[in-house]
Amino acid sequence: MAVRKTKYPMREQEPQKRIKNFNEVPYGYDESTAIEEAKRCLQCKNKPCIEGCPVEIDIPDFIKHVAQGEIDKAVEVLKTKTSLPAVCGRVCPYENQCEGNCTLKKIGEPVGIGRLERFLADYERKKGVVIPKIAKSTGKKVAVVGAGPAGLTCAGDLAKMGHKVTLYEALHDPGGVLMYGIPEFRLPKEIVKAEVDYISKLGVDINYDVVIGKTIFVDELLKDFDAIFIGTGAGLPRWLRIPGENYDGVYSANEFLTRVNMMKAYKFPEYDTPIKIGKVVATFGAGNVAMDCARTSLRLGAEKSYIIYRRSEKEMPAREEEIEHAKEEGVIFELLTNPVRFIGNEKGILTEVECIRMKLGEPDDSGRRRPIPIEGSEFKIKIDTAMVAIGQSPNPLIPKSVKGLKIGKKGNIVTDENGQTSIPGIFAGGDIATGAATVILAMGAGKKAAKAIDKYLKNQ
Ligand code: FAD
Repeated sequence: MAVRKTKYPMREQEPQKRIKNFNEVPYGYDESTAIEEAKRCLQCKNKPCIEGCPVEIDIPDFIKHVAQGEIDKAVEVLKTKTSLPAVCGRVCPYENQCEGNCTLKKIGEPVGIGRLERFLADYERKKGVVIPKIAKSTGKKVAVVGAGPAGLTCAGDLAKMGHKVTLYEALHDPGGVLMYGIPEFRLPKEIVKAEVDYISKLGVDINYDVVIGKTIFVDELLKDFDAIFIGTGAGLPRWLRIPGENYDGVYSANEFLTRVNMMKAYKFPEYDTPIKIGKVVATFGAGNVAMDCARTSLRLGAEKSYIIYRRSEKEMPAREEEIEHAKEEGVIFELLTNPVRFIGNEKGILTEVECIRMKLGEPDDSGRRRPIPIEGSEFKIKIDTAMVAIGQSPNPLIPKSVKGLKIGKKGNIVTDENGQTSIPGIFAGGDIATGAATVILAMGAGKKAAKAIDKYLKNQ
């Protein structure tokens, strides 16, 4: 029988309905659709999809079980390599990873690996999560700093190996960006909490509201623990550095999204976190963070939501699905456009942004074509709120407070490929080491570091 060329569709909330709520946009596959989608897999001998997965999930194996209706077995295969499948099944850039390598791409769309992962994770959550066997206690103690995907993965893997793990998180909730950055309509917080609950059940002791480098210092942790993993992420906003950026109404993407997601500003008056939106919002940047800001502002009542980006659509770093969803929801894309200055009134409140049109020149260091301003093409847009979403840098607190820790040019902690830093016993991974990247890369780094820490502890 010929293989179906396209993925089985996944039902979603209608755009006009969903921009009025914060509920998740896609509904996910039901069991029979998941089985049909899994049957599209060619079970290639060379398994190119696994090569594209930073945590090396045995994708063809779990898909084979789904195709045969052996859902519990499929979950078991999936969970041997990932502790956060419901998260990855929603936000992973599969198109550049596992699905990007799928053989079916030669004739049409790849197998919906992400959709199948999501289906399995949701199935398991509803049925009741199975806690795997934990190795006998090694008597070794490890401190993990930061409860984002890197820290959670590292902590979970170390706990399964029999080490006693204590996790320290600066905020009052776990998940890192999964909780404070990615909006509810893309990644419901209940799902993040359920996956963190699984990590706790593996025996990881999570301590909230502890800022390492302020409340407790790394030197002190070194006295109490046999090894340390640092997964403190890249939460330091980058700014446009143009006049008027301090007007009232200009937010960093991080501040805006934290107020909405973690502090539930969208549930006013139940939660009284202040947030200013107005009628017209402009978001600067075109990555996932920018799409999240633009789409969130529509849900908060903005009548117009712009994405302003200095390059063209081809260079936009956001995931295809996010761009598609933003377009469906009515986000206006002003491409090849760069802000020059913000304009405010006598009270210091933002009223306009002046922009300039751009054209693309030769490729720059990033390999993307360099944007060049077109002289005399300046124009103004009246706006009430601006979000700056042009990237984040590594959180500076630990890099600045630990003597002897080698730091890279971008403020990142320098590690080898296994997460070993310049100080024996201190490992690091995720965005703090690479700069802002992806959930799955952070998880991959957490996994590698867990293996390296285990080896280090055995040789101590
Ligand atoms: P983080 O997730 O940043 O977690 C770090 C944790 O450490 C935080 O909880 C922080 O509070 C804590 N911490 C920091 N300093 C300290 C300290 N001194 N003491 C104790 N705790 C500390 N990636 C994707 O793959 N797909 C997407 O769709 C996607 N969308 C995104 C949308 C937004 C809005 C953002 C901001 C990022 C997005 N990313 C996405 C990127 C992805 O979320 C990150 O690459 C990933 O979360 C990095 O994981 P991490 O564990 O290294 O750091």
